[in-house]
Amino acid sequence: MVGINRKGRREWRPFSLHPLVNNSAPSRVVSFADASRIVREHADRLAGTPRHPPQLTSLFNSLGRVLAEPVYADRDQPPFRRSTRDGFACRAADLAASLPLTVIGLIRAGETGPIAITAGQAVEIMTGAPVPDGADCVVMVEHVQRNGDALSLAPDRSIASGENIVPRGAEAQAGEVIVPRGTRISAAQIAAAAASGAARLKLFPQPRVAIVATGDELVEVDQQPLVHQIRNSNSYSLAAQILAAGAQPVQLPIARDERGDLESVIRSALQADLLLLSGGVSMGKYDLVEEVLLALGAEFFFTGALIQPGKPVVFGRLAVEDRQVYFFGLPGNPVSTMVTFSLFVDPLLGALSGDPFREPRFAQARLVSDVRAKTGLTRFLPARLRTVSTDVTVEPVSWQGSGDIASASRSNCFLVVPPDRPHLAAGETISVLLT
Ligand code: AMP
Ligand code: MG
Repeated sequence: MVGINRKGRREWRPFSLHPLVNNSAPSRVVSFADASRIVREHADRLAGTPRHPPQLTSLFNSLGRVLAEPVYADRDQPPFRRSTRDGFACRAADLAASLPLTVIGLIRAGETGPIAITAGQAVEIMTGAPVPDGADCVVMVEHVQRNGDALSLAPDRSIASGENIVPRGAEAQAGEVIVPRGTRISAAQIAAAAASGAARLKLFPQPRVAIVATGDELVEVDQQPLVHQIRNSNSYSLAAQILAAGAQPVQLPIARDERGDLESVIRSALQADLLLLSGGVSMGKYDLVEEVLLALGAEFFFTGALIQPGKPVVFGRLAVEDRQVYFFGLPGNPVSTMVTFSLFVDPLLGALSGDPFREPRFAQARLVSDVRAKTGLTRFLPARLRTVSTDVTVEPVSWQGSGDIASASRSNCFLVVPPDRPHLAAGETISVLLT
């Protein structure tokens, strides 16, 4: 328990974790919508809090991370009137007048070429080259007839002033923000930064996420399990999801289903910015995670959500000296762990990373075969999303329930069954959770 000592400083106070009667957190099982809203509220609060100083990071190492200071355009973009076509720069009115124009030269990308034309003139021009002064359009090479230096519009073609020219500064003006603070960096932002000469970016530091797998049956991946033992896969799937979210995983030793061991592993995890526990949050006799967190002084925002897989998911916060450390107790079944990460951990991790808008990614797809489910819970069933041209379909993958890692690894999404729908019919457009 965190307490205040006589000098007024917060310190860890030892506490007893002997079996107590009625020592579990008050139950608060909420709907999927409410659980999402609760996480969102905390994420929004976090998004406003000041973070550590930004880190200057090279472009390639910025992928998946979040911008702490905006990228500014260092000059107008485009920096000159840019031709978007291979063709001829000229005056639209001259071509419309159906008198042949005289081609006076050629401009390639990277050249300045003839810098101006007058009435009746045209310049052959390549995509990306600067349009000479005096020209107000670029007519495509496919749309003209050329005979030596004489140029005219092909039959049934027309051209308007401004066509195939991007004015200087139309995309961004010098000094303007082209990538705002709080943006997660992907290929487009890297392109925008590179175009502005920003070889390094100022990024928010990556949150450190402690992973604690719990369970007496668990052994590490490099150990040979006995028949009744299970390899710890959750610490690895979680680390992968954390890395994909642009944060830093910190794998802690497996905690046994025993109060003292759980407590000491949890304490050692509290240096991190976020704590993820897997397993030990169900109703079993040895599911002690909530009890130990409660004894450590945790607040609980929910202790379950009406979803499947993942119903026992727990979300709360611990006071650690002058910091607040959020935690999630994720159910140990491997598919539950993955789904609850995508639904709840990822948005909070987004906020801790500096990205205030991170949400689980849902898409719509046409269901290929009927799905039947019991009502009452929002279900997330492993499924395969398939795209042919622009037609997106989804088909459930057969599975043995939330412990079935093999079926999860054959899936690429989870199809969503709303809690009031016992039957989804083939042909319906439904939601899928992308992973
Ligand atoms: P629990 O949530 O602790 O009741 O565990 C539910 C199921 O998930 C049990 O079958 C566990 O053996 C399994 N499980 C728990 N933790 C892990 C883990 N880290 N890796 C793989 N399976 C696990
Ligand atoms: Mg367990």
